[in-house]
Amino acid sequence: MSEAQPLLDGVAMSAPQIEDADIEAVTEALRSGTLGLGPRAEAFEVACAVVAGVRHGVAVSSGTAGLHLIVRALGIGAGDRVATPSFTFAASVNAFMYEGAEPVFVDVEPDTGNIDPAALDAVGGDVSAAMVVDVFGHPATWDGLTEVVTRHDMRAIDDSCEAIGATWRGRRCGSFGDAGAFAFYPNKQITTGEGGMIVTDDEGLARRCRSLRNQGRGAMGSWLDHEALGFNYRMDELSAALGVAQISRLDAFLEARATVARRYTERLAGLDAVRSPVVRPGVRMSWFVYVIRLDPVVDRDRVLRSLADRGVPSRTYFPAVHLQPYIRERFATREGSLPVTEDLARRSLALPFHNRLTEAQVERVVEALRGAIDEQASLRR
Ligand SMILES: *Cc1c(COP(=O)(O)O)cnc(C)c1O
Repeated sequence: MSEAQPLLDGVAMSAPQIEDADIEAVTEALRSGTLGLGPRAEAFEVACAVVAGVRHGVAVSSGTAGLHLIVRALGIGAGDRVATPSFTFAASVNAFMYEGAEPVFVDVEPDTGNIDPAALDAVGGDVSAAMVVDVFGHPATWDGLTEVVTRHDMRAIDDSCEAIGATWRGRRCGSFGDAGAFAFYPNKQITTGEGGMIVTDDEGLARRCRSLRNQGRGAMGSWLDHEALGFNYRMDELSAALGVAQISRLDAFLEARATVARRYTERLAGLDAVRSPVVRPGVRMSWFVYVIRLDPVVDRDRVLRSLADRGVPSRTYFPAVHLQPYIRERFATREGSLPVTEDLARRSLALPFHNRLTEAQVERVVEALRGAIDEQASLRR
């Protein structure tokens, strides 16, 4: 049983939508005799490139592997400083730390939690690249960011691991900057089990990533002809088969998630201490998670425990990366340096969220949340 399976009549935090078509696709891959890199990965690359509106897709073993290869292929490494949000998943930062580059943490916009173009501008002279994250499936502020990135002549990576299918004024997440990455862990919008995808318009970059994922083999992929120090970051055919089956239903999945999000937002409007996620005009969300913000007078961690007592899982999301022990130890980062990030990290709570969360389950979560908040209010009185 996977961690995402619902309890018998409980509410799951997340759950992939696996149907007969998925099982048949994986079975067919198993019977085909090709289990390593093969035609299903190529088909999945094309499908992901279409979703990102770019020319190239390079299938890899995880979203993290994808980000790492982009960093390596762009030549970012020791001596480089990379601007990054701290309000993200650690993988965004790890991807360039693997190559010896150092993070320069940049604060985020209070409404979306995405990296603030003005804050990026302020460190523009000090960094050679920016890791930009489309947080929770909401596109980053790419008009402002693109201007800053261009003016400071930075490389830019679109960590779109939470935003496959999201668009901003018709431009697709994954397509911004030099290259983008999608991720397919089972809690993401579509899954391959483990898996990721690099998407880019830059043919040379795509070629380098293709070689690097495959032990640095030459473009022809000949058996033992290595032109660079590479990795084994390949996607296998079982994962790719699942990816092809899943991505053909991406629009339906995103619609189902938008419906669940709308139901949450409608019901939460009655709770004064809760703020629902903001969606800016011109944005098509690719809902990854549903993260609320609690009023500062509410003890978020106690709400989490009280929800758990009521049978409803929830998660603190995101804890700030710059306050993680391994980052503090290495870069002497400290509390107080990123006020917006730290405020969001203290007050944010991810509620159960997936394609098939029913109206009754949404209702149950909201009622449990109401109970958890009221309980605190009565204690304060
Ligand atoms: C999920 C995620 C990743 C990494 O994906 P994996 O496939 O788990 O390696 C990277 N960045 C962000 C923001 C993510 O949410």
